[in-house]
Amino acid sequence: MIEHDIVIVGGGLAGSRAAVEIARTDPRLKVAIVSKVHPIRSHSVAAQGGIAAALQNVDPNDDWLTHAFDTVKGSDYLADQNAVEVLTKQAPSVIIDLEHMGVLFSRLPDGRIAQRPFGGHTNRRTCYAADKTGHAMLHELVSRLFQYKVPIYEEWYVLKLIVEEGEARGLVIYHIPTARIEVIRAKAILFSTGGYGRAYNTTSNDYASTGDGLCLAAMAGMPLQDMEFVQFHPTGLYPVGVLISEAVRGEGAYLVNGEGERFMEHYAPSKLELAPRDITSRAIDTEIRFGRGIQGGRYIHLDVRHLGKQRIMERIPFAHDEAVRHLGIDIVYEPMPVRPTVHYSMGGIPTNVDCQVLSAHNQTVPGFFAAGEAACASVHGANRLGSNSLLECVVFGQRAGASLVRHVQDRKLPSVNEQHYLDEAKGLLAGLLDQSGPLRIDQLRRGFQDTLTDHCSLFREEATLKAGLEQIANLKAKYSQIRLDDRGTCYNTEIIEALELRSLIAVGEMIATSALAREESRGAHSRTDFPDRNDEKFLKHTLAYQTPEGVRIDYRPVDLSLQARDPERFTPQARKY
Ligand SMILES: Cc1cc2nc3c(=O)[nH]c(=O)nc-3n(C[C@H](O)[C@H](O)[C@H](O)COP(=O)(O)OP(=O)(O)OC[C@H]3O[C@@H](n4cnc5c(N)ncnc54)[C@H](O)[C@@H]3O)c2cc1C
Repeated sequence: MIEHDIVIVGGGLAGSRAAVEIARTDPRLKVAIVSKVHPIRSHSVAAQGGIAAALQNVDPNDDWLTHAFDTVKGSDYLADQNAVEVLTKQAPSVIIDLEHMGVLFSRLPDGRIAQRPFGGHTNRRTCYAADKTGHAMLHELVSRLFQYKVPIYEEWYVLKLIVEEGEARGLVIYHIPTARIEVIRAKAILFSTGGYGRAYNTTSNDYASTGDGLCLAAMAGMPLQDMEFVQFHPTGLYPVGVLISEAVRGEGAYLVNGEGERFMEHYAPSKLELAPRDITSRAIDTEIRFGRGIQGGRYIHLDVRHLGKQRIMERIPFAHDEAVRHLGIDIVYEPMPVRPTVHYSMGGIPTNVDCQVLSAHNQTVPGFFAAGEAACASVHGANRLGSNSLLECVVFGQRAGASLVRHVQDRKLPSVNEQHYLDEAKGLLAGLLDQSGPLRIDQLRRGFQDTLTDHCSLFREEATLKAGLEQIANLKAKYSQIRLDDRGTCYNTEIIEALELRSLIAVGEMIATSALAREESRGAHSRTDFPDRNDEKFLKHTLAYQTPEGVRIDYRPVDLSLQARDPERFTPQARKY
């Protein structure tokens, strides 16, 4: 059996930052990372626009409290305010730390880190490395992993989180290149497994964003929090869905409908193109539904031509490359066709501000931690502001590392029945290979992605959600009818796809059930049958549990500590921009 003090699942920004913290703080600890892809290929590497922090380099009037207020208002008041306080207060120090590690942020003429405007942020506070910020940050952090000699189990897929007597004790992992199965026991486990964009048919996320961590946590009996809040990014390149960063609007791009109008003035007159994502995505969807797409079609235009070639190539070169690569469009001379694309998971595994997973009503699960997009701390509530996610990864990645170091001091390795878990995993894989139904994985996956997209999208209502859930139940029943052609042990990617499909379906069921239960409209969750926010009934976090009888819904309160200290500023108001 493999043994480590701490095992981190996920080599993206959150996982890498946590590992660096542990290696720096207590080099004696045996920490390892398990990742189904090479860490540098984690979705974090694709982050473009930037990372928010009230550094005051461009706006001397900025401060953490304004950043906190923007975040809470952006969240439609559902964010936990103690977590938002931690996020925004620690932001400047984590950026300086990244800078000291060598991250190549873009600069002002005087050499300080540059900051650009971003949707929903009052001040110019988003630090960036052109429009390749995630790339710059992840490469530096992964270099540190090599420097500190952190072992990386690369291309190992986690099959199971071992929880016994309410305590996380280890993992069962599968080696993709050779089909070997191993059990790891550890004093503590961190899940930093990213999002689930692939549950929908159009997404900005990479192929590995399949919600595995969420599914494994739910299967181990943990609740998933606020799963109904799915972020659609307003500007996915049409029709492929790949992201055109919000930095493009931060630099001054216009959104224009088929009538040549900058329609955002009807939806967010003061912020226009820089309104938060939920509002902007619904505005675009509404324009398209009312026949005001380009030539009446399913997209609108994102136009940067007025910025001029020099600024485009200096500030948003990646957006330029993406449009050429996917559509053969040169954005210096032509507008880009865009529409909303599934982008980010506000919900996830509930944690406190020290990244300890909460089982229910604020009870922590010994040995189990979560950070990054897979976690729900909750700093984004019902809607995340752009450039707050990279920040969450590094602030809470750092905090997770510190918290894990404290947790494992004086703890012994738990006992784990290795043979039992090996047999169980072999049974699971043999069962998949033995199935001999008429369905191919791709068929079932597409059917599922279309179902979730058609029934639980930007606008929702009871009848469609119920119909969607029925279809998901049917699709789930068909899972045992998929046939795998590859029976080999060398890079059997069909097995991985089948396991990822299991995650997608579990997560999709949680999303739709949580959405059905929340009879109000808040942030990214917009119910046409309940168009208003209802603080009296629903200013609370949803908890969804997987049970043999289906998904069970419960709730827990929202932390309102900033409101208690500063009621004038933080008391929930109607959200206007
Ligand atoms: C195109 C794009 C652009 C973005 N731009 C920005 C931006 O400019 N600013 C911003 O703030 N946010 C941005 N975001 C969001 C942000 O990048 C992500 O939320 C964040 O990077 C997630 O990091 P993470 O460490 O939580 O997970 P990820 O980087 O997604 O990493 C997940 C890790 O988990 C591992 N893993 C998952 N399942 C398993 C399994 N079963 N077994 C083993 N390993 C597993 C994977 O191998 C991977 O290493 C963007 C997102 C996208 C998609």
